[in-house]
Amino acid sequence: MSTERHALVIGAGLAGAAMAQCLTTRGWRVDLFDAANGPAQAASALPVGMLSPHVTRAPTPLSQLSALGVAHTRAELQRLVPQGHGWQACEVDNLGHDPGRWPAALVRPSALVQAWLAEAHATGRLHGHWNTRVHSLQASAGGWRLQDAGQHTLGEAPAVVLTAALGSAALLQGLIDVSDWRAWPLHPVKGQMSLGPQIGEPLAPRPQRHNGVFVPRYDDADMPASWPQRLWSMGSTYDRGQADTVVNDDAHRRNAASLRTILPEAVAVNAALGAAPWQGWAEVRCASLDRLPMAGAVPDVAALQAHVNRAGAHRTRLGLSQVPRLPGLFALTALGSRGLTLAHWCATHLAQTMNGEPVTAPQALWNTLDPARFVWRQSRRQPSAHAAHSTQA
Ligand SMILES: Cc1cc2nc3c(=O)[nH]c(=O)nc-3n(C[C@H](O)[C@H](O)[C@H](O)COP(=O)(O)OP(=O)(O)OC[C@H]3O[C@@H](n4cnc5c(N)ncnc54)[C@H](O)[C@@H]3O)c2cc1C
Repeated sequence: MSTERHALVIGAGLAGAAMAQCLTTRGWRVDLFDAANGPAQAASALPVGMLSPHVTRAPTPLSQLSALGVAHTRAELQRLVPQGHGWQACEVDNLGHDPGRWPAALVRPSALVQAWLAEAHATGRLHGHWNTRVHSLQASAGGWRLQDAGQHTLGEAPAVVLTAALGSAALLQGLIDVSDWRAWPLHPVKGQMSLGPQIGEPLAPRPQRHNGVFVPRYDDADMPASWPQRLWSMGSTYDRGQADTVVNDDAHRRNAASLRTILPEAVAVNAALGAAPWQGWAEVRCASLDRLPMAGAVPDVAALQAHVNRAGAHRTRLGLSQVPRLPGLFALTALGSRGLTLAHWCATHLAQTMNGEPVTAPQALWNTLDPARFVWRQSRRQPSAHAAHSTQA
């Protein structure tokens, strides 16, 4: 296989833009593909999201990751996006479990996506392909070949990074048995945010979190024309298994109920926020079985299975890092509800891996994100062909 540093990145949301930036600034050539007519058109089109730590009483992988990710993304925002043009620093009051006030930021993800892509473009090594749905992915003499639905070649390179959120699973068809949910366990979680123009005094001094986040006021001079430049927002709903993007009144009602829990003193919340019907934005989060991202080299499930069968009853169990991989094929997906916090932190460490640099993330924490972890755990539970035979005998 060629050692040329050229990658095809599929999906141009937070994950794909972060990957493109991290690779091009390391000298890689990147072709970035998206089915939409530009970057940040799916979950990363979120009008405003919250960057804040995931606080738990005892540390968990997610709380540790989010502490690192928040600091990392905050530094990226300060480096690349002027305040008021895509983000604003704030604090958030946690009203539910683990109450307290935490430093936070309100961020429009597309501002970060655009900033990362601008930096990648400035290297002269990024080529964006819009309105380009990748239909299939095959191993080829040059590494990997992408094709559209008409079997036309879209690109070929030694490395591919799947950053297509839920769309990543379909691209692995034929390489991993994605119909076996345990091998590549991604699932959709629909979310709807309610929002409207913020007029007059904000209803709270800072964002409030309790079964969703109420943002009393967010100002963004570069907000896309479809949304107010000064808005309030409440959200978001969390509907596991739903994959449509239709805005509906039921979700508005659920957001209104959550808002009344946060602000019981605002007797007529609807009236206080304006008589006009609430605006809404609905999209689909991509979550994994253990709610952690999948970031790293894609496992070669057939080779792993062959090893398990070959090794017999007394096999030496493989460690996670010993799981065979499909050479040159990587994933950064399953960012769930934390794309702002985790996309660039994960992309940085995945780019280090791809570039043959030492990975600067704490090793144990990085291992929790390995996309091979699900098939690996399964392989350790599974009786080998030899063991199964001995039992029957
Ligand atoms: C209602 C709601 C509220 C949220 N609030 C927050 C928040 O407060 N804080 C936070 O951090 N996160 C939040 N999130 C989550 C955040 O939006 C996501 O984690 C993040 O945007 C995921 O980025 P991504 O790049 O993985 O996916 P996406 O942005 O969905 O990008 C995937 C891209 O892949 C493309 N694609 C898919 N298949 C193909 C294919 N075959 N060929 C070519 N292109 C393809 C799609 O067109 C899409 O552009 C929220 C999400 C929702 C829905």
